[in-house]
Amino acid sequence: MKRVAIIGGGISGLSAAFYLEQGCRSGAAVEYTLFEASPRLGGVLKTQHLHDCVIEAGPDSFLSAKPWATELAREVGLQDELIGSNDFQRKTFILNNGRLTEMPDGIQMIVPTKAWPVASSPLLSLSTKLRMAREYVAPPEPLSEGRDESVASFVERHFGSEVVSKLAAPLLAGVYGGDAAQLSARAVLSHFVALESKHRSLVRGVLHSRSNSNSGAPTPIFTSFKRGMQQFVDAVAAQLSPECIALNCAVSKTELHDGEWSVTSTQGQVGKFNHLILALPAYASAELMQTHDADLSRILDSIRYSDSITVALGYPTPSLRRTALPGGFGFLVPRTEGRTMMACTFVQNKFNHRVPDDYVLLRAFSSGAGNHSDAELRSILAKELKDILGIDSSPEFVSIARWPRAMAQYDVGHLEKVAAIEKLAKGIPHLTLIGNAYRGIGIPDCVREGKQAAANILNN
Ligand SMILES: Cc1cc2nc3c(=O)[nH]c(=O)nc-3n(C[C@H](O)[C@H](O)[C@H](O)COP(=O)(O)OP(=O)(O)OC[C@H]3O[C@@H](n4cnc5c(N)ncnc54)[C@H](O)[C@@H]3O)c2cc1C
Repeated sequence: MKRVAIIGGGISGLSAAFYLEQGCRSGAAVEYTLFEASPRLGGVLKTQHLHDCVIEAGPDSFLSAKPWATELAREVGLQDELIGSNDFQRKTFILNNGRLTEMPDGIQMIVPTKAWPVASSPLLSLSTKLRMAREYVAPPEPLSEGRDESVASFVERHFGSEVVSKLAAPLLAGVYGGDAAQLSARAVLSHFVALESKHRSLVRGVLHSRSNSNSGAPTPIFTSFKRGMQQFVDAVAAQLSPECIALNCAVSKTELHDGEWSVTSTQGQVGKFNHLILALPAYASAELMQTHDADLSRILDSIRYSDSITVALGYPTPSLRRTALPGGFGFLVPRTEGRTMMACTFVQNKFNHRVPDDYVLLRAFSSGAGNHSDAELRSILAKELKDILGIDSSPEFVSIARWPRAMAQYDVGHLEKVAAIEKLAKGIPHLTLIGNAYRGIGIPDCVREGKQAAANILNN
């Protein structure tokens, strides 16, 4: 019988546990225990329900294009609970010199694919528009094999610094809470780096892949659940045997003797196992690996994390009408605007099933506001929402969720670092590292890693 300890009950650890459970049900000689430090499963996936609003404290959805989370949702019986984003009203605004300006239609992240919307947009200067056109005919030299560079440098080479500050930086700040000058182009914009190496011009590359993609029914960009992301966590957890879950159990030490892992929590030794899956933030895995391999521990610890804060603000419609908002999914705030808020979602527009008709729900994000108290944050956001959206009324409720050191930063050289981690981890018997620190920060990638870890144990 293989005994597996999974440490960390976020979506990565939960996915590993679910697929091991599937193995048990199909007769594999395996048992597992999932150790979670906090009193609840799900990690940063957490949903609250207030005034009939579905409020996401952490992620609100995941990318539909990556299949692993949707597959898991179907496997746990949530096929009828999946919802897609309302892409028919997808519009994003960028705060530009204090005013909301619509992102031109046809911009694929940073790459323009339609001439007129870009040419007529007040968001970008004439010189940037000319540079975008020139990129098609005279693209820069591609990034040489084996080299990495920052996202800011990659985008700047193609389209200039204005596209970095007004598009790339705010878009990536929303995903990583990070800085375009530090994030790795190869890790974060791998698709565009591949297009560059094949077509040199990103515009040419995007247009070419678009013309080659089959034109079936369009899939919504984002997928979520009618009752929020917690529904996903609860449905996965319901498939696990309750005796295999240990909550309030922070693992503080792991020892390896004669191929057997001994796991100790803050309350004492909790068991012996043949295999260890660390589904933790890299800095937490670093601590547990310190006595096994100092180099591995050091590299794990060198992966930076940023803090993240989400603030949900609910307004009954007599005090704030939906028509008073500009429409679309929300807006992004470039750092150059000097605001605390980095982005704001108009929740009722992005998904159905989230907000009752007589309510407006705004969800603001920040990453560098950790020093502010809740009261200070509320008053800063109230001022920023008044300046940006003209909102005078006070919200009926405000819900603040703080996620310290939650977002792994894929800095320049990240993929080499991950390769080094994988090589060193291979030297330690029966150890697997999974989670958002390595090869994808989004939920689908975390599910993929959990599934892969379980498959490797079941098949070897
Ligand atoms: C605010 C926010 C918004 C996001 N939005 C999106 C989004 O819209 N779409 C998307 O795809 N992704 C989004 N992400 C990213 C994504 O949600 C995360 O990368 C992913 O959920 C991480 O899952 P995980 O299981 O790897 O880690 P975590 O969720 O961090 O889970 C790790 C778990 O390990 C536990 N733990 C830590 N130390 C120990 C220990 N010593 N012993 C036992 N347990 C321990 C922790 O308590 C935690 O439960 C967002 C992230 C944040 C913070």
